[in-house]
Parts: sequence; structure tokens; C-alpha cells
Amino acid sequence: MEYGATVAENVARVFDRIARAERRAGRAPGSVKLVAASKSQSLLMIKEAYAAGLTVFGENYVQEAQEKISGLPDAEWHMIGKLQGNKVRKAVSLFSWIQTVDSGKRLEEISQCAVEAGKVVPVLLEVNLGAEESKAGISANELPAVAEVSEGLRGVKVSGLMAIPPYGIDPEESRPYFVRLRNLRDALARRMPSLELPELSMGMSGDFEEAIEEGATIVRVGTAIFGVRSWR
Ligand SMILES: *Cc1c(COP(=O)(O)O)cnc(C)c1O
Repeated sequence: MEYGATVAENVARVFDRIARAERRAGRAPGSVKLVAASKSQSLLMIKEAYAAGLTVFGENYVQEAQEKISGLPDAEWHMIGKLQGNKVRKAVSLFSWIQTVDSGKRLEEISQCAVEAGKVVPVLLEVNLGAEESKAGISANELPAVAEVSEGLRGVKVSGLMAIPPYGIDPEESRPYFVRLRNLRDALARRMPSLELPELSMGMSGDFEEAIEEGATIVRVGTAIFGVRSWR
């Protein structure tokens, strides 16, 4: 991949690659949501991407996101990093979506803050796909129990699952993880018909096309848009 191009060129290229993957997978054009992973990027860079047609951004840290969101409030902002308990209220006030719910307790806290703010926050349950190096997320076993917590919570709408496969593996090696997340979603949807779970957030710069082929509805792409970060 070339990362030397301008942000606008990268944005166009990523949209084009998404469109081709949608076509290959027999998915409707425009059905996959591109979330630009903008951690460590300046507001200036983010505005450049916005001007090039990107409207959805994902941030990993509440503190870092705050300034950017107030600088570009018209964009849609997703929380894609680990959410600390003491940051829940702030996150609910700042983000449209929270993709990284990793416990029933967090669900309850988010719902409580959302109800107080008079809104319903769409959330994804982050699943630990059993990769040794990644400790984040809910294990497959615990997933139904956590999902059940959401029943009766008025401030959250559990809309699907999110996962981060092991970093740095070959895109084709990511595929089984994507299949696994899709199967977990399908099983959960059968088990809990009251939940609608249309969303699968999976796939990053190195493997978003494979993810789309396996059913991703949301891809989170940083490097292919902004270039290589100085930190991960
Ligand atoms: C940084 C990040 C991404 C994007 O990673 P790239 O490889 O730069 O595309 C996606 N998801 C999460 C949760 C991230 O933290």
C-alpha cells in the first residue's frame, strides 16, 4: 500500500476499495460504514479528511477526543478505545456510538448516563475472539449473559458486535476471526430475538476488504487514510 498520497487521495482510494469489496460480496453499495480511526491525528488532518468526504471518526481516548469533537461537531464520532468507568458520563455526552462495551456493568453505567441525558446510545459489545495477546473484550461464553443485561435498560441499544483480531497477522489469517464474530452474532440473535444485531464492526487498514467479504457493516480504518502513526 502507498501511504505517501494526500489524505484526500487516501480517502478516495479507501472508499473505492470498500465499494469493490461490497460488490464482490454481493452487498448493497454504500452499506458498509467507514469509521476513520483518528487517534493521534490532529484536528487539522481530521478536517482534511472530513473535507474529502469522511463523516465518521473513531477515537480511543475520551480526553483526546474531546477537543477534536468540539472542533468538528458535525461529524459522527464513535468511541473505539477501552472505556474506563470514570469516563462513561463524558463519553456518553461526546460520542454518538460506543463500540467497546466490555461488561454488563459498563452497559448499566452507559444506560444510566444516557437516560439522564435524555438519549439512547447505540452500542456494540466488544468480543475477545480468544487471541492470546488481546485481553480486551467479552469472552464468547459470557456474551449471552452480558447481552441479557441490556434487556430492560432504556439508555442503550445493543446493535451488534465488535472485535479486534490479533495485530499484524496476514489479512487472510484474519478471515477466520471475522467468520467467528459473524457466527457469534448469528447465534446471539437466534438466542435473543428481542435484540436486533445488524452491526459487525471488524476490519482495519490491513484487512478491511476481507472483513467486508465476511459480513462487516462497519470498518475502522486509520493508517490507510492518515498514514503511519508514530504510536499505535
Ligand atoms: C487504531 C485502531 C484502528 C485502525 O487501525 P489501522 O491499522 O491504523 O487501520 C481500528 N480499530 C481500533 C480499535 C483502533 O484502535
